Amino acid sequence: MGKSVSCDDKCMNKVFHFDAPREKYHCDAAILWCFDNRFELGFRKFLKRIGVVNSDPIKVAGGAKCLASPEREADREFVLDQIRKSMRLHGTTRVILMVHSDCGAYGGLAGFGGDAEAEAKHHEAELRRAAASLRKAIPGVEVKAYFVDFDGIWEAEVETAEEAKRSVA
Ligand SMILES: [Zn+2]
Repeated sequence: MGKSVSCDDKCMNKVFHFDAPREKYHCDAAILWCFDNRFELGFRKFLKRIGVVNSDPIKVAGGAKCLASPEREADREFVLDQIRKSMRLHGTTRVILMVHSDCGAYGGLAGFGGDAEAEAKHHEAELRRAAASLRKAIPGVEVKAYFVDFDGIWEAEVETAEEAKRSVA
C-alpha cells in the first residue's frame, strides 16, 4: 500500500497484493452459464467433481439461451466468438452449456406458470437447440449440457449418435 505508479498526471495506486501464476494454462472447458449467483456455488462444485479445474467462464444472462434462442443474433455471435477465443488461446475442446430454473432471461419460473416440470422440459429442449447451434458453428467441439434447479443438476442428452457410439465402445 502507499505505492503508486509514477506518471505525469493520472496515477494508479496499488490497493491489493497477490501472486498470480504467470504460466498459460490449458482450459478444461469453456462454460457458458448464467450469471445468476444462486447457482454459482453448486455448479462450481459440480464442475470440480467432473474434473473441470481450469475453466474459461462465459457468464451471460440466460447462459445457453444465447445459443438456443438469443434475443438478438448478435448475442449468439458474441458467445461463439468467446468460445473460439477460448479454443485458440487455451486449447479448449469442450464446451459446457448451462441453463437454470427461475432464470430471469426466460421470465423466471413464473413464465412457466410456476410449473417446474414444464420449465425443465422447455430447458431441456433449449439445451438441445444450443448444442445443435454450437456444433453447426464449431464442428467437432465436445458439448455437455446441464439444467440446474434448486436441488440439483440434470444432464441433458445432447450427444450426437456418433459420440454416443464412441463412448460405448
Ligand atoms: Zn439466469
